[in-house]
Amino acid sequence: MERLVEIEKFSADEPSEASLRPDAWSEYIGQEQIKKNLGVFIEASKKRSEALDHVLFFGPPGLGKTTLALIIANEMGANIKVTAAPMIEKSGDLAAILTNLEEGDILFIDEIHRLSPAVEEILYSSMEDFRIDIIIGSGPAAQTVKIDLPRFTLIGATTRAGMLSNPLRDRFGMNFRMQFYSHEELARIIAQASRKLRKEIDHVAALEIARRSRGTPRIALRLLRRVRDFADVADEADILHHRTKFALDELGINSYGFDEMDLRLLRLLASANGKAMGLSTIAAALSEDEGTVEDVLEPYLLANGFLERTAKGRKATRSTYEALNLNMPQGSGSLF
Ligand code: ADP
Repeated sequence: MERLVEIEKFSADEPSEASLRPDAWSEYIGQEQIKKNLGVFIEASKKRSEALDHVLFFGPPGLGKTTLALIIANEMGANIKVTAAPMIEKSGDLAAILTNLEEGDILFIDEIHRLSPAVEEILYSSMEDFRIDIIIGSGPAAQTVKIDLPRFTLIGATTRAGMLSNPLRDRFGMNFRMQFYSHEELARIIAQASRKLRKEIDHVAALEIARRSRGTPRIALRLLRRVRDFADVADEADILHHRTKFALDELGINSYGFDEMDLRLLRLLASANGKAMGLSTIAAALSEDEGTVEDVLEPYLLANGFLERTAKGRKATRSTYEALNLNMPQGSGSLF
């Protein structure tokens, strides 16, 4: 079954994500603190006619990291090259990208924690000294060639701040942690997108989608599209609350925003009867890799108190049992 609250990027057959992407601050809703700080840094570097310092964004997928990078480029009037770490396999790949940049350009690297150590090494000197050393040949005949680079800005995005090496993290002048969005903020994002889709949505309907979107704009926009399909089929000019609720229920989107994977994780934790469960056990039971459990499934549940991390592993909380309509096991956990 398609995972409707899947947070990974849209596949190629759903190209419309790009068309809903905001391209100015005024359309970028929420993340107020980040916007405020970035605004100051952008203005300062524009005043000095300098490239912006390197920026790192971290947080779960779908919260608007790529979008922010594009807006920064727009504000700086800079060209941006967008790539992702898995596409930069060898140091030569990175060298080719870097030497093609021009003064003031922005290089956006998604999933930056996935760079190989050899590639990371090249990135260090390019970020710090705007220079790379390339070794040509091998053995005694090997030569080091130094290449000067234009002053560029690296914007890195990662879902796993913990997996970033310290030397890499230290070379970013600014780093920002993305927050989950409130229901009101998501409703505004939904209303803005539905205007772009030329289909108005009423506020209560937008809030209904927001509540079920795990605090994530990418999911909210995906649900909006599916709900719009239902409204179109029913020949309704606008997206109304009753149709929205019906569509979301039909699609099996739970009122907490949980999908089948979340529910499986929560049921698993609840079945441990108050005991903690290790990450590897959870991943094996759900047939998922540990990274997906940790970066994609857990952050929202953690942020909303539906699971707790302890030294011994993950535990169900009172909210877990409430969400599942189960009774709390007696004497479970020190929390209560
Ligand atoms: P990430 O890079 O963090 O995975 P994206 O930047 O690709 O996330 O965002 C996913 C989609 O959600 C974008 O296409 C954009 O339309 C929308 N979006 C994200 N953040 C916002 C926001 N703050 N305001 C409006 N739309 C947003």
